[in-house]
Amino acid sequence: MNFLITGAAGFLGSALANQLSREGHQVRGLDDLSTGDPQALVHDVHFTRGDVNDRPKLWTLLQEVDCVYHLAARVSVQESVLYPREYNAVNVGGAVSLMEAMRDVGVRRVVLVSSGAIYGDQAEQPLRECMQPNPRSPYAVSKLAAEYYVNTIGDLWNIETVSLRVFNAYGPGQHLPASHPPVVPYFLRQAIHHGSIVIHSDGNQTRDYVYVDDVVSALVAASTAPNLDGAVINVGSGRETSVRELVKSVFDVTGSNAEAIYNPKTSAGVSRMRADLTLAGQKLNYKPSISLEDGLRLTLQRDPRLR
Ligand code: NAD
Repeated sequence: MNFLITGAAGFLGSALANQLSREGHQVRGLDDLSTGDPQALVHDVHFTRGDVNDRPKLWTLLQEVDCVYHLAARVSVQESVLYPREYNAVNVGGAVSLMEAMRDVGVRRVVLVSSGAIYGDQAEQPLRECMQPNPRSPYAVSKLAAEYYVNTIGDLWNIETVSLRVFNAYGPGQHLPASHPPVVPYFLRQAIHHGSIVIHSDGNQTRDYVYVDDVVSALVAASTAPNLDGAVINVGSGRETSVRELVKSVFDVTGSNAEAIYNPKTSAGVSRMRADLTLAGQKLNYKPSISLEDGLRLTLQRDPRLR
């Protein structure tokens, strides 16, 4: 098949592009390189630098494409609090531009990578796709708005759409910015350097951590599985892990005796998150296969920044 992946030079985009390419598909990648690195891509992926809001570029890249994966986005919850306009322009505007260009060119299927962040705090766990979303950040609102746009424009123009709500993905190559880094690579890096690990609030907040290879298997299945049109599907590990437990696992796999410091003045964000995977199992035959401990070990082995 012929694929276009937006955000292809990013953490999840490059893992997906490389896997599809290994399976023998033709893969084009688009990324503005605001955080992505094209060196993460294998040679066979045809990479173009550009903005996902550049429709003429999309028209060219979409020719003969069977399915688009839309991953290009700004991805930091905390940053989105400071720059909501930018998050709206890239995450919402980008999804709308892509759908318009797909309509113009006549591409028939898109897989949107959405986020578990759209659930926010809920009275019950695990989080099911039918629950009323409760987004608590401009990032979460932007992902939910993108879901609605993709679904609605897809419906109007007969484009098959599926949104995958990915929970806390981690693995080698995850972007590690200086401020507000994602917890897994931040904890691993601090642990191997015997630095201190700063934990927001009391560390009892939970997340559903899912290894990148499991996410990629769900994404690959979403391009061909039948009866998906309009579906919204969770992709996680189905397990709930507190930040305290995550730190303990990081210490176990690294053998580190770094210090954990709790900062009660910072917000923990959403208090609990665990994905219900019933729909993913039914629709995508998805079954996460990598435990947190194994995923942490693989991340250490495969990410040269963590040696
Ligand atoms: P990432 O930052 O590594 O990837 C995003 C990519 O998009 C980057 O390479 C960046 O350069 C590119 N990009 C940003 N703005 C762009 C623009 N205007 N035009 C073209 N490219 C642009 O982050 P990631 O973790 O790989 O996230 C990929 C997607 O998955 C995002 O849509 C994100 O919201 C979603 N997601 C990620 C997670 C996670 O835990 N990593 C969880 C849920 C959803």
